[in-house]
Amino acid sequence: MAAPGENMRINGDRLWDSLMEMAKIGPGIAGGNNRQTLTDADAEGRALFQKWCEAAGMTMGVDKIGNMFATRPGEDPDALPVYVGSHLDTQPTGGKYDGVLGVLGALEVVRSMNDLNIKTKHPIVVTNWTNEEGARFAPAMLASGVFAGMHELDWAYERTDPEGKKFGDELKRIGWVGDEEVGARKMHAYFEYHIEQGPILEAEEKSIGVVTHCQGLWWLEFTLTGKEAHTGSTPMNMRVNAGLAMARILEMVQGVAMDAQPGAVGGVGQMFFTPNSRNVLPGKVVFTVDIRSPDEKKLNGMRAAIEAAAPKICDELGVKCSIEAIGHFDPVTFDPTLVASVRKAAEDLGYSHMDLISGAGHDACWAAKVAPATMVMCPCVGGLSHNEAEEISKEWAAAGADVLMRAVVETAGIVE
Ligand SMILES: [Zn+2]
Repeated sequence: MAAPGENMRINGDRLWDSLMEMAKIGPGIAGGNNRQTLTDADAEGRALFQKWCEAAGMTMGVDKIGNMFATRPGEDPDALPVYVGSHLDTQPTGGKYDGVLGVLGALEVVRSMNDLNIKTKHPIVVTNWTNEEGARFAPAMLASGVFAGMHELDWAYERTDPEGKKFGDELKRIGWVGDEEVGARKMHAYFEYHIEQGPILEAEEKSIGVVTHCQGLWWLEFTLTGKEAHTGSTPMNMRVNAGLAMARILEMVQGVAMDAQPGAVGGVGQMFFTPNSRNVLPGKVVFTVDIRSPDEKKLNGMRAAIEAAAPKICDELGVKCSIEAIGHFDPVTFDPTLVASVRKAAEDLGYSHMDLISGAGHDACWAAKVAPATMVMCPCVGGLSHNEAEEISKEWAAAGADVLMRAVVETAGIVE
């Protein structure tokens, strides 16, 4: 006799073909995609997705922020749906899989359930969240954030892109303002399948990441004020060097993150020198420290340590220091029952797996505010993502979708 679920597999070829078909819309310049949110390419991708959903027997609902919800009915009319999805929008130089795999993987789950004639108690809703990337309209995960009550809808509509175009106007222009109130839907559970966007699964030779947490983060923006002065004629003892203070703070942040191991990271990715001239000591340096951890106490402890040490470093150099917290997410602990269902699905299917913490933000992190939620991850080559060269194998894509289907069907309650 076959082991339970051994015959329950998705169609890996069909999933791959759909990924390649979607990737033709909004092609990038180096083999990836530029299908940024609320562009004509986004509209075209949405239309194709809707066509596929309807061909699979689903009914599309759209809310006032353009989130798309394709429903496969359940057997119990009163049962809340199991939501499964991610995002179809990409970075300006994005890959073919970030987000797209989660939406089309969810669609493939429904297509395969149709093929296998699997009925469930709870409906299944395949979801495409608007503007996950935040590249064109900050912040990232904007529409799932409104859905989860983290932002106001009107505030989201007022976000502008670099050309000054408003989110609300662009959503209207591409024709995807729906009639549903954002966040009115109630979820039995939420699953999101995503590429890892990191190097761990590939390095550990595991097919499946069982995602237990999303990291929390603080962005601390530093403004250091020194004295602009000639790099050649200013004696060392007379310098008020904001650049040197920044360098010492970077070293200190590295130490704080290392002291918080395991399960913490910290660094600086952006810095601005004024006047940024080769032979002028900077009078002003602005940079952002990015610290993350899945452990709230650890995260806040790192912030406190940095905020205590930085002014002392600056004082010694006569540099003025101000620190502003400009970004924050609480760490998210995913639902233990759903996490266990993903782990068990991987085991039953014979796929190698390991627990993972998501290093990036995802719509699932906001969905977790309003429903039990979790994620499934598959490896990506070299951990590369937000890059047109982002790559995965067809086998990896299929393995994760197999696991997704088993966990989703178990959660939705199979009806014999
Ligand atoms: Zn993504």
